Amino acid sequence: MKVDVIIPCGGSGSRMGLGYNKLLLPMRGRTLIENTVSAFFLPYVNKIVLPCASAEKGLFRSLFEGFGLPVEICDGGGTRGESVANALRLCTSEYVAVHDGARPFVTRKTIDLCAKTCKLMGTAVASVAVSDSVRVTRPDGSSSPVDRNTVRLVQTPQFFRREELTKAYALAEKDGSSATDDAQLYEKYIGAVSLCDGDPHNRKMTDPSDLELLAPSGFRVGAGWDIHRLVEGRRFVLGGVEIPFEKGLLGHSDADVLTHAVMDAVLGALGRRDIGCLFPDTDPAYEGADSMALLDEVAALAKKDGFALNNLSATVICERPKLKNSIPKMCDRLAQAFGCDASRINVAATTSEKTGDIGRGEAVAAIAYCSLSSEKVPAKADA
Ligand code: MG
Repeated sequence: MKVDVIIPCGGSGSRMGLGYNKLLLPMRGRTLIENTVSAFFLPYVNKIVLPCASAEKGLFRSLFEGFGLPVEICDGGGTRGESVANALRLCTSEYVAVHDGARPFVTRKTIDLCAKTCKLMGTAVASVAVSDSVRVTRPDGSSSPVDRNTVRLVQTPQFFRREELTKAYALAEKDGSSATDDAQLYEKYIGAVSLCDGDPHNRKMTDPSDLELLAPSGFRVGAGWDIHRLVEGRRFVLGGVEIPFEKGLLGHSDADVLTHAVMDAVLGALGRRDIGCLFPDTDPAYEGADSMALLDEVAALAKKDGFALNNLSATVICERPKLKNSIPKMCDRLAQAFGCDASRINVAATTSEKTGDIGRGEAVAAIAYCSLSSEKVPAKADA
């Protein structure tokens, strides 16, 4: 079974009160839409097509460059239906799935069940039972109860045979008719759809109260490791503290090996890419860079993602010089970057017992572990 997936990316975010496309909300160190698209990184998915507003095509293209998935960006339309119709023209697989860009919590279980159902029945629409009592309302203000066991809430993904959905859209275009989802359109022009179990957590991000759903989960742990060569003619900087010594660490930046390990630990806890991706050593901007300034940027990212440093524990592995007297200063400098008390930072030093490159005094390494606690709901766009 091969499936092309269409994820309309038009949403303006006006109901969210954002002033920008809600699909660009920060979520788990990425944008919301990257989380949604990643859910479809599955063996039977052939490609993913994202219809976007023309002004945002470049932005969405840059998000998915080198993403490791065949993602195609195309022109959206004035309505969701027009966007899906445009994207359908790029689809080639036997089946297509349509999924809301604003449903980032969709799980593999739901997608797999839809795929399986569609293969068997020709269509599959994720839906969930209703737990509240349900009433039908009338224009005169009166209402009457409905047996909630006869009602399902419709979600996405919705799976179809590509040729059939394409035909439904062609007929709808001729009629000038539209629908709020693809299942309705399919039903009008082709036939009945098969419902399958969705997931109550597969929520659609719609209004400001939904921002709570993006709140980072309570507690994160990260690990970082780094090593730099010890050479003559360089400053020896560790944890932002310059240590008098006949040699220093070699690197593109100031080669502060401790701060590098700390940054990778924090980025790891945030679920973000490492410092090599964030501050590439091929970029002249970082030549001779003060690693503490880079740490300020990493600490700002943690804050932006809604996390504060809980504690940091690092070990420097260094044969010479002795670091004992410099360690309290390093803790102070690192604490400054995170705006926290120095008691949350611990730096230990050890030797390599004269073994290996470190033991011969040719290199210094550092490892770092950190834990972060969530603080608040993130509220700024990431892109
Ligand atoms: Mg390094």
